[in-house]
Amino acid sequence: MTARVVIVGNGMAGARLAAELHAREGDRKVTVLGAEPHRAYNRIMLSTLLTGRIAEPDVELTEAAGHGIDRRPGVPVTAVDRSAREVRTGDGERISYDHLVLATGARAVVPPLPGLDPTDLPQRVVPFRTLDDCRRILAVADGARSAIVLGGGLLGLEAARGLATRGLATTVVHHTGHLMERQLDPAAGAVLAGTLAGLGVTIQLAVPATGVVADDTGVRLDLADGRSLHADLLVLSCGVRPDTALAQAAGLTVRRGVVVDDRLRTSDRSVSAIGDCAEHDGALTGLVAPAWAQARVLADVLTGTDPLARYRPRPVVTRLKAAGIDLAAMGDAAGGGPGEELTFADPARGTYARLRIRDERLIGAILLGDNPAVGTVIQLFDRGHPVPADRRALLLGRALGGAGAAPSASPALMPDAAVVCQCNTVTKGALVRCWRSGARTVDAVVAGTRAGTGCGGCRDAVGGIVDWLSEAESVEVTR
Ligand SMILES: Cc1cc2nc3c(=O)[nH]c(=O)nc-3n(C[C@H](O)[C@H](O)[C@H](O)COP(=O)(O)OP(=O)(O)OC[C@H]3O[C@@H](n4cnc5c(N)ncnc54)[C@H](O)[C@@H]3O)c2cc1C
Repeated sequence: MTARVVIVGNGMAGARLAAELHAREGDRKVTVLGAEPHRAYNRIMLSTLLTGRIAEPDVELTEAAGHGIDRRPGVPVTAVDRSAREVRTGDGERISYDHLVLATGARAVVPPLPGLDPTDLPQRVVPFRTLDDCRRILAVADGARSAIVLGGGLLGLEAARGLATRGLATTVVHHTGHLMERQLDPAAGAVLAGTLAGLGVTIQLAVPATGVVADDTGVRLDLADGRSLHADLLVLSCGVRPDTALAQAAGLTVRRGVVVDDRLRTSDRSVSAIGDCAEHDGALTGLVAPAWAQARVLADVLTGTDPLARYRPRPVVTRLKAAGIDLAAMGDAAGGGPGEELTFADPARGTYARLRIRDERLIGAILLGDNPAVGTVIQLFDRGHPVPADRRALLLGRALGGAGAAPSASPALMPDAAVVCQCNTVTKGALVRCWRSGARTVDAVVAGTRAGTGCGGCRDAVGGIVDWLSEAESVEVTR
C-alpha cells in the first residue's frame, strides 16, 4: 500500500482522486497541490456561470476533506525530482512522495496571431478555461455592449450563448465552413447556426482571423477576407493543449499528453497521470467522465482495493450546455463509410437528426432540437444494443414502446445497467440501490451516488427515477 501520495493539480481529476482515496480504507497521507488559488471547483459549470443562472458558490466542488488529506490551493509545483522522489513547489518547499500523480489538466490555446502575446494578453482579450478567466470575462462584459468569440467549437458556442444571454451583441468567428465540425456534419452545423441566430448570436464561418488590435476602449479582430470586426470583448476559444511541461522536464514519456497504460502509470512506475494531461492508448480525453473514471481506477490500484482495476475508455457523448439549444452528438456521426445513414432535417424548427447504424448497432448520432428519443439513443449507443426495427421513432423522437422507451417516458422500462449520469457513470441500478438503502430525496440520491454532480444534465432524469420509486413504494405500502 502507498503511504504518501502527492497529487499535482486540484482540478476536476485531482480533486476527485483525493476524494476517491479518502473513501477507501487504509492509512495514507494525500497532499493535493493546486496552482490555482481557489478551492476545487466544477470547471464544466463555468459555462453556466457565464450565463448568470448560477453564482460562484454553486461551482465549488464539495469533495471530501479531513484526516489524511492536505489540500493546498495556490501552490504550483515547479519541478519533479524522480530520483529523490520529491516535488518542488513555487516557494521552494520540497515534498516527498511514494507515489506521484500528475493531474495538471490542459491550457487554453492562444492562437499565434499578431497582437496576441500569450504571456501578456490585453485586458479585453480573455481565454475561457479557468475561474479567473470567467471572472475577467464577466468584469469586461459588465457594461459592455458587444463581444466576439473566436472559435465555433463546443466551448465557444457555450460562451457565446452565455454572453448573448447577458444582452451583449455576440458574434462567433469560426475558421472552417461549419460549427462544431469535430462533432457535427455540415447540415447539422447549418441548423445549429440558424438556432443560434434566433438566440441573438451572429455566426461568421470560413473566415480565419489574421490579427488582433486591442486597447482600453475596445478590440478589433482582423479577418482573412479583409474585413475587421469591432467589439468590447474578445473571448478566445481555440482549443486546449495538455499541460505536460512538468512531465516533460522530469523526463517522462510525453507525446501529445503524458503517456499512460491501463493502470494510468507513466513511464515511471512511481508516477501516474490522469485527466486532460494524460494520453491513453494514443488518445487524449478532454472530458470529465474519463477523468473521473481514471481517478476511480487509480484509487483502486493505489490503495490495493482492486489491484486488477484497469482503465477502459467508454464511448463519448457530447452535449451542448446552452439554454434554448438541445444538442447531443456521439460516435462517428459526421463520417461516411458502410452502414445505414438516416437523416431528418427541419431547419425552420431547429431540428436535425442523423443516425449511423452498422450491423444493427448505432455507431454515431446527432440529435439537435427537442427530440424525446435522446435518452434512448444515448443508451443504445452507450451499451451497443441493437436498434429497434422502427428507426423512425429514434429519428423523429416519437414515443417507443417496450425496452426501447425513452427513460424520461418511463424509468420502469429502463434496464438497470442503463447509464443515467454520463459524467459519473451512474446506472439506473445504482440509483435504485441508493434509494432502497434509505435515500429518499433527489439530494440524498445525488449525495449517495454523485449522479448529477458533473454537467448536471441528468438531474431531471434522476428526479424522474426518484419520483417513480416513491410512487412504486406508496403502491407497495397500500397493498
Ligand atoms: C468552460 C468549460 C466547459 C466544459 N464543459 C464540459 C462538459 O460539459 N463536459 C465535459 O465532460 N467536459 C467539459 N469541459 C472539460 C473539463 O472541464 C475537463 O475535461 C476537466 O476539467 C479535466 O480535468 P483535469 O483535472 O484533468 O484538468 P483541470 O480541471 O484543468 O485541472 C488541472 C489543474 O491542475 C493545475 N495545475 C497545472 N499545472 C500545475 C502545477 N505545475 N502545479 C500545481 N497545479 C497545476 C491547474 O491549475 C488546474 O487547476 C469543459 C471545460 C471548460 C473550460
